[in-house]
Amino acid sequence: MANDANHLHTKAIHGGLDPAAHRGAVSVPIYQSSTFAFPSAEEGAARFAGTSPGPIYTRMGNPTVQALESCVADLEEGCGAIATATGMAAISTVFLALLRNGDHVVCTDPLYGATRTLLTRYFSRLGVTSTFVPATDNAALAAAIRPETRLIYVETPANPTLDLVDLAAASAIARAAVIPLVVDNTFAGPHLQRPITLGADVVLHSMTKSLNGHSDVIAGIVIARDPAMLAVLRDAAIMFGMTIDPHQSWLVLRGIRTLGMRVERAQQNAIAIARWLEQHEEVAWVRFPGLPSHPQFDLAQRQMSGPGSVIAFELRGGTEAGRILMNSVRMITLAVSLGGVESLIEHPSSMTHKGVPVEEQRRQGITAGLVRLSAGCEDLDDLLADLAQALACVAVASPPRPRVSA
Ligand SMILES: *Cc1c(COP(=O)(O)O)cnc(C)c1O
Repeated sequence: MANDANHLHTKAIHGGLDPAAHRGAVSVPIYQSSTFAFPSAEEGAARFAGTSPGPIYTRMGNPTVQALESCVADLEEGCGAIATATGMAAISTVFLALLRNGDHVVCTDPLYGATRTLLTRYFSRLGVTSTFVPATDNAALAAAIRPETRLIYVETPANPTLDLVDLAAASAIARAAVIPLVVDNTFAGPHLQRPITLGADVVLHSMTKSLNGHSDVIAGIVIARDPAMLAVLRDAAIMFGMTIDPHQSWLVLRGIRTLGMRVERAQQNAIAIARWLEQHEEVAWVRFPGLPSHPQFDLAQRQMSGPGSVIAFELRGGTEAGRILMNSVRMITLAVSLGGVESLIEHPSSMTHKGVPVEEQRRQGITAGLVRLSAGCEDLDDLLADLAQALACVAVASPPRPRVSA
């Protein structure tokens, strides 16, 4: 119901759509042009001076890209957005725009593997230090702030443990320290969670995931709460060359038109699969924000309008059982990524989070046997049948063991 009140289906379908501006086209055209003719020298000068809004050069802005940016900014309730070539380009844009030598960042753990590596391997070389605190620990987040801390960076639900960060609490901490709160909202997406409404200053996405939703594009976006922040981020994205191209933007905008339907259907599948897995005797535990067994179930109910479609679970047989499961699924595809119409399964410890040292993985709750499943939009019966036959292969391969409660 909350979603209906926020007009999210309507915004996803009509955002950036203005047929009168494009000869009546109902699908925003692909402006496949690197540069734009100025009707006069005076108009060209006005565009460079920022007093006329017309396009100049595609790295600096393009009508197809702008349609996508305005659609996502509207969904996230921000003042505007900058679309980028990849999700990592969105993250790099934020760090490059807001940090300089000597600055410090406080992040929650776990983070998307490459985000953590970006900070520890590359931004450390540029004199930026970072402190990582557990996603679930607000007191540790507040305590990690130093005089030189310039931003708080969080991801919720976190990848791959599905720990949640309390966004209202994190934004209160950021406001008290007078620094921006940046949220990677890739996992939930704007349909299920809008961090700006909870106090965040900057929200970003890998649009490769649910926004595009068809596993055929790599793209990212950064959304700002206020125009001054947006201007700083846009300048960095243009100068560092992070921006997206028009064809890729068109594909993502096309994907977004069905965002609400896809997310709701995948989520229904995920809820049913999570409940089913929790009852399965080969499964040691399931972590999913839609299950009462999630330690932050109440927070999920408060800050999200649904639990999403990614499930983490551990098999009783640990890593070896997980290996057999992933080799035994037939329709569910063994691949990284998430949020697409097709269901994907992967092993974070050896795949997406391979770059995180093993001791560090364990500290963050990324156990050796953790399996991540991104539920897609297939028929639920087919998904359960595939999981059932794959778990039967696991059972055959493992020695019998007594049923113990989790
Ligand atoms: C995939 C992902 C990214 C990186 O996005 P790319 O589009 O692959 O560059 C960042 N954060 C999260 C949470 C992701 O899932």
